[in-house]
Amino acid sequence: LPKPLEAAVPIVSRLEESGYEAVFVGGAVRDTVIGRPVKDVDIATSARPEQVMALFPKCIPTGLRHGTITIVHEGETYEVTTYRQESAYEDYRKPSGVAYITSLEGDLLRRDFTINAMALRNDGSVFDPFNGAGDIERRCIRCVGDADARFQEDALRMMRAVRFIAVYGYQPAVSTWKALRKHRELMRHIAMERVQAELDKMLAGSDPRRALVWLHASGLLHKMKEPLPLTEYMRVDSTRYGLVEQLADLDCRWAAALLDSAIPSAIADESLRLLKLSNNRRLRIIGIMRMHEEALAAANNEGADWWAETVIRDGKQLAEDWLLVESAIHASAVTPIDLKILKAQLNEFPILTLKQLDMNGRVLAQRLRKPAGPWVSRCLHRLLVSVAGGKLVNEREKLLMQAELWDKEDKSDE
Ligand code: ATP
Ligand code: MG
Repeated sequence: LPKPLEAAVPIVSRLEESGYEAVFVGGAVRDTVIGRPVKDVDIATSARPEQVMALFPKCIPTGLRHGTITIVHEGETYEVTTYRQESAYEDYRKPSGVAYITSLEGDLLRRDFTINAMALRNDGSVFDPFNGAGDIERRCIRCVGDADARFQEDALRMMRAVRFIAVYGYQPAVSTWKALRKHRELMRHIAMERVQAELDKMLAGSDPRRALVWLHASGLLHKMKEPLPLTEYMRVDSTRYGLVEQLADLDCRWAAALLDSAIPSAIADESLRLLKLSNNRRLRIIGIMRMHEEALAAANNEGADWWAETVIRDGKQLAEDWLLVESAIHASAVTPIDLKILKAQLNEFPILTLKQLDMNGRVLAQRLRKPAGPWVSRCLHRLLVSVAGGKLVNEREKLLMQAELWDKEDKSDE
């Protein structure tokens, strides 16, 4: 058994010694059979929640309504869920009730895909009534039972199907894919936060480009509860999608995927709001996308100081993120942006903040003999950009002379 499962063996044994059945289920079993690293370990048992709680003093009744108890064991948490069956689904997402049952097979029957419906016992033997192992061998995502019914019960399963196809590099079974295409309209019942979580997992996987291609083919993004404006722009062209997987950071991957799909930043912004991304994440992704757009505009009309201005406005960190994103998408897009030069300049800006400028508003106002006003911060900013861009030396007297010169020019303009 892989380590995370090995660590949970005492919990399963404890349940068995008390006369109950207990097995590992879900993603941990799937990943063990495939040979991928195991993340969270879920346990299913014939014991009722109150019986589980009686056996384990350190437990938290996290999902009592669904029969789930979280057990803390040597610093790790494990979800232990009573075998259950789900009755009539409401809202295409949640069962209206759960009934505890005594049969493991009955519990596996409610699970979404055959590869997720295997159980693993303490002794390492696998109980696999729907031949999930066969589908792993065939690299196939297949619904347990009738695909039509399963997607109608819970429409989120369609998103999960695309995610497993993308992340595991599998193909859908023909019947599963047909049903998914047929019921894609049901996506309108799914909370946008859940969609976001699935998209995050798709983009975080080893093949984000595969995710985009399959997402596009599924048509699911076109049927959301809140229509996403990006679907109008998204272009799927299998020669694109750069090398998004080179990027370690998830938000950089989002920015790269959006840029590489030729989606304008304003459209992406609106779409990310609808997907309920946190403001922090959205601003970071959109900030990166805007840098790309500004860089293109500057390359086209020789905008001299744009890079200094951009870095001053958005900070060096975001600029570095953008350079990484830009080099990832450069694998697929030909652009006039010269990354080498920008990268070199980024490390050579003499200063990037007003604090570092050898000047302040009071001194400036005194020297120009003008009352303080909005002109002061405008002038300080202009000085900062000039110093950062290497056009001016950061010495008080030189800065004051430049400010006086600009002041004269402004007056003669009026
Ligand atoms: P991962 O943890 O890698 O995201 P997972 O398959 O473990 O994938 P979880 O959300 O942790 O996903 O769910 C654990 C198990 O619960 C699944 O393997 C599956 O058996 C079952 N399951 C989860 N969501 C659903 C669903 N919407 N419909 C039916 N069964 C589900
Ligand atoms: Mg899991």
